[in-house]
Amino acid sequence: MNQYIEETKKGLVHTYNRFPVVLEKGEGVYLYDTDGKKYLDFAAGIAVCGLGYGNQELNQALKAQIDCLTHTSNLYYNTACGRAATALRRISGMDRVFFTNSGAEAIEGALKAARKYAWKKGTGRYEFIAMEHSFHGRSIGAVSVTGSEAYRTPFEPLLPGVKFAEFNNLDSVKAQLTDKTCGIILEALQGEGGINRGTQEFMEGIRKLCDQEGILMICDEIQCGMGRTGEMFAWQSYGTKPDIMAMAKAIGSGLPVGAFAMTEAVAEYSLEPGDHGTTYGGNPLACAAVAKTVEIFEREEIVSHVRETGAYLTERLGKLAAETDEILDCRGIGLIQGMKMKRPVGEIIHAALEKGLLVISARDNVLRLLPPLIIEKEHIDEMIEKLKSVL
Ligand SMILES: *Cc1c(COP(=O)(O)O)cnc(C)c1O
Repeated sequence: MNQYIEETKKGLVHTYNRFPVVLEKGEGVYLYDTDGKKYLDFAAGIAVCGLGYGNQELNQALKAQIDCLTHTSNLYYNTACGRAATALRRISGMDRVFFTNSGAEAIEGALKAARKYAWKKGTGRYEFIAMEHSFHGRSIGAVSVTGSEAYRTPFEPLLPGVKFAEFNNLDSVKAQLTDKTCGIILEALQGEGGINRGTQEFMEGIRKLCDQEGILMICDEIQCGMGRTGEMFAWQSYGTKPDIMAMAKAIGSGLPVGAFAMTEAVAEYSLEPGDHGTTYGGNPLACAAVAKTVEIFEREEIVSHVRETGAYLTERLGKLAAETDEILDCRGIGLIQGMKMKRPVGEIIHAALEKGLLVISARDNVLRLLPPLIIEKEHIDEMIEKLKSVL
């Protein structure tokens, strides 16, 4: 194992503090390292591997696509892109989709789409209101709307005209509103930011504000979307359909793919030929992954499975919190859960790793749980036992 670690460390820009584990293979909700040690996975590659590992139907579809065609560029149509777009439109209620290669790129596109909308309407609006403790990715545009100074400061000056408001505080959002505001970008449930759920009042308030002002509501569903909250997309539980939404992570089950989508009302005044593009976006392989992922989600009723297992997870975590004073609070819903810990969360994560349990952290000393969406109650029991032994 050390040989891979040494080589990797030497060869890459030092941007990650990786755990000293070399993962080699996955099966269901378990991962195995190069020494054959087994890990129960409650991270899912940061909310990516919703279908877990080694899904044969998905793998066969990908293999078949590889043998057929993996790249065409966007100069031509391909057989998978339309299927993937239809699938995403069906589950999101959005009308038009643009495929990207990552979440950050989906955010970039969403910001450009909003700017173009304002430009074409001739409103002179260009500012964005974003939320404190939000996370939207690492490219310059995405960092500009990310509510964390540590992520932003070294890269300033960033995109001009971005203002930050307090999440779940509508007055704070209104205080940032000007006649130049073109959109409000937010996660219905902040993942990286500490597993903070938007309140019904806040989400409705944002929707109403956008309608009143003629500005766009942009939802980042990259982490909280694709079934994780017990809805296909987190905004759906609030009934606050955004004008533009960004997706990535779980939509491709591990293939690098993202998308931004918009309503027809936005599309009518937004991006046109020549405004935006990407060489790989919408490539047949990534799109085959999206189309098959959605097909499996729908047929296997993954979302209702998340509701059921999510309720069980909530109950078990609540009980665990009552048994120990190590857990200060529990937050989250479905299979995106967090616990604010007393001890530094890094220590707990390392100890869990030793015991064969993969968990991650979020801001605010929160232990973040993002298991594959296919977990069963027995895996939750196993996780609780392991976590108990660590605490
Ligand atoms: C992961 C994430 C992103 C960025 O996605 P990348 O694929 O890493 O660029 C953006 N927004 C949210 C909410 C995320 O969780």
